[in-house]
Amino acid sequence: MRRPLIAGNWKMNLTRDEAVNLARGVGAAAGDGEVDVLVCPTFVHLEGVISAVEGSKVAVGGQDVYFESNGAFTGETSTAMLGDLGCQYVILGHSERRNVIGESDKLINQKLHAALAAGLKPILCVGELLEQREANETMAVVKSQLDGSLENVTAEQMANVVIAYEPVWAIGTGKTASPEQAQEVHADLRSLLATRYNQEVSDGVRILYGGSVKPANAADLMACPDIDGALVGGAALKADSFAEIIAAAG
Ligand code: PEP
Repeated sequence: MRRPLIAGNWKMNLTRDEAVNLARGVGAAAGDGEVDVLVCPTFVHLEGVISAVEGSKVAVGGQDVYFESNGAFTGETSTAMLGDLGCQYVILGHSERRNVIGESDKLINQKLHAALAAGLKPILCVGELLEQREANETMAVVKSQLDGSLENVTAEQMANVVIAYEPVWAIGTGKTASPEQAQEVHADLRSLLATRYNQEVSDGVRILYGGSVKPANAADLMACPDIDGALVGGAALKADSFAEIIAAAG
């Protein structure tokens, strides 16, 4: 059975003290139940957050990483740097990186290979824009993102990959995909994985939903058979809301 994962993407938010306090709160709330819990602070808060969750079951991840191992890449951070700090996961291909920063599937694929080679678990984000959903292009868009981002990734490597379906129109907007809308895409993603790899990969890969997940809608989303957890933005910035979402997945 797939173990649920609730991941908080803190984005470019919080002071160092706020990040450490939030991490302590999440550590205390995470318990030791059947749900994996992850927080992804900004790079500069990683070290403080990793110390703050020590002794709890909370894992820590980066919000991005670069694919080169070292050198003249101003502003970038390597997979070894994240691993050295104690990160276990890294978010890749978030819609803000795709649509604001302009990342391509090719770049995301390079980062994904580097992350896997370094022992980090990538959380690969895919999702359509509102106009693409309205033009009935959702599945074509996520298929093309999946194919491009997973190029040359083997079935064995997929054991360490998490996918997050995040419709862009639902991120930070308060508009959540209905459980039916989300489940439909998750089931289609699983079929794509079965075709691309095999049934074992399709059955084993965790597919998270992201887009305005909050305590009020988490239980209905988590009850869907192909939704294995959530990637949470806004509601991850408050320990009590995040704890309620964790409880909804358990
Ligand atoms: C996200 O940043 O991945 C996200 C889903 O944000 P929010 O929960 O705020 O929509």
